Amino acid sequence: MTLDLAADQVVGATGVAVDGNPGWTPDASERSAYTARPAESLGLLTGASAEGRKRVRFRAQRVHHFGWAADPRFTHEGVTRFSLNDAGQRSDLPSIHVLFFPGDTAWGGNRVARLTLGAVQWVGALFGPYPYPQLTVLHRLESGGTEFPMLVMNGSASEGLIVHEVTHQWLHGILGSNEWREGWLDEGFTSFVTNWYMEEKLRREGNAPAADSLWNGAVRSIERLERADSTQALNLPGAAYRSPRIYGAMTYTKGSLVLRMLRDYLGEPTFRRVLRRYYDEWKFRHPTGRDFFAVAERVSGRDLDWFRTSWIERTDKLDYSVASAASTRLPSGRWQTRVELARTGEAWMPVTVRAGDAEQRVSGRARRQTVLLTSRERPAEVVVDPRWIVIDSDRSNNRAPVR
Ligand SMILES: [Zn+2]
Repeated sequence: MTLDLAADQVVGATGVAVDGNPGWTPDASERSAYTARPAESLGLLTGASAEGRKRVRFRAQRVHHFGWAADPRFTHEGVTRFSLNDAGQRSDLPSIHVLFFPGDTAWGGNRVARLTLGAVQWVGALFGPYPYPQLTVLHRLESGGTEFPMLVMNGSASEGLIVHEVTHQWLHGILGSNEWREGWLDEGFTSFVTNWYMEEKLRREGNAPAADSLWNGAVRSIERLERADSTQALNLPGAAYRSPRIYGAMTYTKGSLVLRMLRDYLGEPTFRRVLRRYYDEWKFRHPTGRDFFAVAERVSGRDLDWFRTSWIERTDKLDYSVASAASTRLPSGRWQTRVELARTGEAWMPVTVRAGDAEQRVSGRARRQTVLLTSRERPAEVVVDPRWIVIDSDRSNNRAPVR
C-alpha cells in the first residue's frame, strides 16, 4: 500500500514501512522481516510525488484489513526488537510503535509502549506468539478504540483499552473469525481475555478482593436482562439483535461470562491447552464457534454439546435455589450440613455450594440434589455459587440460613 501524503505527515499503518519516510525510523529488523519486493503499480501514482508531498509504502503479509492514520503533530516512541534482545527478552516479539500528541502525558515516557508490550507478551503466552513484525498504537481523536491488523487506534491510554485492542490482534486479526456473523467469538473472547489479564494483575498486586469481584457487575447486568426476558442467543448475526444495547450485552458481556464459565468447568490448565490448540490449528483460517467447541471437546475429552446449545445457541435460563439447609453435629465435633439444591430453567451448569469453611462442587444436572458438607464450625448460612461464576437468573435465592 503506497500512501501519497503532505510531506509533514507522521503516519501509522498496518504493515511495515518498507519505503519512504513515515515520520519516524522503522527498526531494521522490521524492514528485513519482509523481503523487499518492488511495488506493483495500479497506475494511480505515476511519476514522482509533487512538491511538498511524499510517498510511504507499507507492506504486510497475512492480513485481512489495512488501516492508517496521519497527523503532523504525532510524536513517536517505540520499542524495537533489537533493544528487546539486548535486554535478554524473547526475540519473537514485535517492534512496538506509539504515536501520540504533544501534551499526552499518559502516553509518553514509554508508558503506552510498555503496556502494549506487556499485553503482547501476556496474550501471546495464552494463545501463541504474535506473528507480525510490528504493532502500532496511536491516539485517535474519538473516544473508544478500534483494531486493525498490526494497528490499534485508541482514544485514551487506559490499560484496559490497550489490552482489549491488543487482544483483538489475535481474535479479530489472526484467527479472523467473522465478527458480523458471530460477534461473541471476537468481542466476547476479547472482553474475556481482557478481564482475565486484569484479574491476574490484581492478584499479583495483592488485591484479591478486587480480583474476585471483577466480574460481578457483568454477571449482575446479564442476570437482570434474563429476568426481563431480554436476552438473545450469542450466535446470531449482528443485525439480528433487537438493539445496539442487547447486541453489546450479548456479544461482549454474556460472551465473556460464558467463556469464563467454560474456563471454570474445564479447569484453567485444560482451558489454556484448548486456547493454544485452537490458535495453533485455526490461525489465519477464520474459525466459527463450532470449530472452537470441536477443539475444546478434543483437548478436554469432554462432551460440550449441552454447553454450546444452552449457553451459545439458545437463551436457556438457569436458577439455582436453596430448598433447605440444616446442620447436625458429628461425633468428631465437626458439623455436617445437608443442603437441598433445587434447579429450575432449561440450562444447567456445575456449581459450587459453600457452607462455612466447606465447599463442594455439584454437577447441577438433576432438578434436585442433596449436598453434604462437613465444616469445622457450625455454618450460619449456605451460599450457592459464592464466586458468581454461573449466570443464575435469580441470585436472591442462592443464600439461605442454616437450621
Ligand atoms: Zn473490541
